[in-house]
Parts: sequence; structure tokens; C-alpha cells
Amino acid sequence: METTFYQELTTNSLQGEVLSDACCEKILTGSEVELLPLLDAAYQVRKTYFRNEVQLHILNNAQNGYCPEDCGYCAQASSATTNIEAYPLKPDAEILEEAKRAYASGAYRYCIVMSGRGPSPKRVAHLAELIHTVKAHYPIEVCLSAGLIDVASAHILKEAGLDRLNHNLNTSEAHYPNICSTHTYQDRMETLQAAQTVGLACCSGVIVGMGEGTDDLIKVAKALRQLEVASLPVNFFLPISGTQLSEFDTETQRRMPTTLTPDYCLRVLCLYRFLNPQAEIRVAAGREHHLRSMEVMALYPANSMFVDGYLNAEGSAASRTLEMIRDAGFTVKTNAEDAGQLNQDEIEKRDVLLKELKVLRPRMES
Ligand code: SF4
Repeated sequence: METTFYQELTTNSLQGEVLSDACCEKILTGSEVELLPLLDAAYQVRKTYFRNEVQLHILNNAQNGYCPEDCGYCAQASSATTNIEAYPLKPDAEILEEAKRAYASGAYRYCIVMSGRGPSPKRVAHLAELIHTVKAHYPIEVCLSAGLIDVASAHILKEAGLDRLNHNLNTSEAHYPNICSTHTYQDRMETLQAAQTVGLACCSGVIVGMGEGTDDLIKVAKALRQLEVASLPVNFFLPISGTQLSEFDTETQRRMPTTLTPDYCLRVLCLYRFLNPQAEIRVAAGREHHLRSMEVMALYPANSMFVDGYLNAEGSAASRTLEMIRDAGFTVKTNAEDAGQLNQDEIEKRDVLLKELKVLRPRMES
């Protein structure tokens, strides 16, 4: 029997071959490439490494706003006019309480995220202590996102028990100046290299839809492959009002965000799976907004999701996400022994609502 294009994608990915740029482009934009067989091809790769499990992550936005950087996609940037509730680093007790809640709700990983260019040595020491306490109390994986970090800081955090450091590449080196002027792609790359030097696993991903071309997305996917990142969040740009990228600036001529369709978002997820077969691929911010009714299909290439929203944007309720996962025949991977029951309890029981007379016979109302 002749091997199809889709079967070749699965085989090549599983054999560790890098797809050519032309093949990647075909996946993203080729009208002859059908979505369902493409999703199935990506699912075969996902299933090989992650079976039907889904890892759930909960974000703690531990410090909101006050950021001197000007990332054009971010509501916390100095350049953004978004009306956010800024606050300095939350007290330790609050962060610990939220870690407890994340553990109890069945999250596999607890992500502590802080705004800012990068932590001072004093802040690194504080974070190390905090991470040590979380790990001592709850058997949950901890990931930290704290901006630019050097080897010495990475070492301290690793010693404290940090499991992963998050620092997204976000976009390609060529497109980077269009989304940020206060730091560079190279700065971000050096942070990831510092983490790798001390043996910290890296979480690094992309934001799709910031005016980049398909070539940029292909380059980032291949750069993340070279870095062998353990975890790869694929975000879809959320046009939060007041961020530079959502308001086209005629002076700087920043490019308008790309219009994203569910079909294109799913193709991107498939491409990232083929190029990073063993990475934990997370369908991250923008899942609900851009995938809409096709949201559940993301589970075929991706094996991880956030629950309870994102940094500055709300997501769907955890119960709805859990229901979607279970309805599609996937299971939640968890650290907590009793989380299966807890998760089950969270799924709402809905009564079937009967139509009222004014709906059944609207003309009788007048
Ligand atoms: S992405 Fe991080 S560094 Fe950039 S503006 Fe937002 S909080 Fe600051």
C-alpha cells in the first residue's frame, strides 16, 4: 500500500527526522493538506510519548505589572495602557496557599510567574526559599517564570528544588525587534542556555499571531527543537486592548496581529508536535478565544493545558476544561492521589432546562 503524506509525517517525526521547511510550510498553508488526517498523524506521535494523558497547569500571577520592558503583546508592559490591577510580589503565605489549591485540584504543575526584566540576587534568594517550601509541603512540580536569568541565579534556583524554568522565545530572531525593543531574542536564548548549563529543564514556547510569517513560526519550532525543551507552550495572541500589538501604531509601523482561524491554530499545533515529538506541548493562552468550537481538537497534537486562565486574561472554568478532556476520552495526569475524585466532583451536574411557554409560543405573549 502506498504511504501517504500523513503517514510519512508520523514516521519521520517518530524517527527523529527534521521536516524540511517546504514540508512545514505545506502543513501550515497547503490547501491540499486536510485537517483531520493531519490531526490524526500528529496524534499518533503524541500517543507514542504521552498516551491519552493530559497534564494540567495552573498559573500563579505572583507579581502583576510594574514592568519596565515593552513587550508589545503584554498587558503588563510599560508601554501598555491596559487597565490592569498591578501589585508587587504576593506575600509568601498567599503563594503557598495557592500552591496548596493547585495541588488539591489535581494540577500536575504549579507555575509561578512574575513580571519584570529579571530578578535581583536578593529576589532570587527569596524565590529559592519559597520554592523550597512549596516542594517540602506538596508533591507538585514547580515551574518559575521570572524574566532574564544568569547561570549563578539558575544554579541557586535549581538547588532549591525548582523543576523547570520558563522563558519563552516567543517569535523568531528576525521578527523579535517588531515585538520588543528592551531586550533581544539573544537575551532570551542566553537565559535558556543558563538554565541548561545548570541542568534545569526548560519550558519555552511561542506566541502565534503577532504579525509573523509562517517562516518565523517554522524557525522558532526548529530552534526549540535544537534546545530540546522539555515543555513547549503554544500561545495564540490575545488582542488585549491597550497592548501595543493590538493597537496598530502608524508611527512605528508595527505590523497588525495576524488573523487566526481555528484551522490555522490546529495546523500550528500539529507542526510543533512533528518537530518536537517528545516535548510536552501545551495549548496555552488564546485556546478558548481562537480555537472556539474546535478547542477539543487541540488535544490530538497537544498533551497539556492551563486551567483557570492565563496571566491577565480569563480562561474557561476548570470544570469545563476537565469535562472536555474526559468527553474526548483523555485522562488527566496528576500528582495528587485523590485528585481523580476531586476533579470528578468539580464537573457540574447540569439539569436539562425546559423551554418556557413564552419561548414555545412567542406570539401568545403580545
Ligand atoms: S512579557 Fe514579561 S518582560 Fe515582557 S512586558 Fe510582560 S511582564 Fe514584562
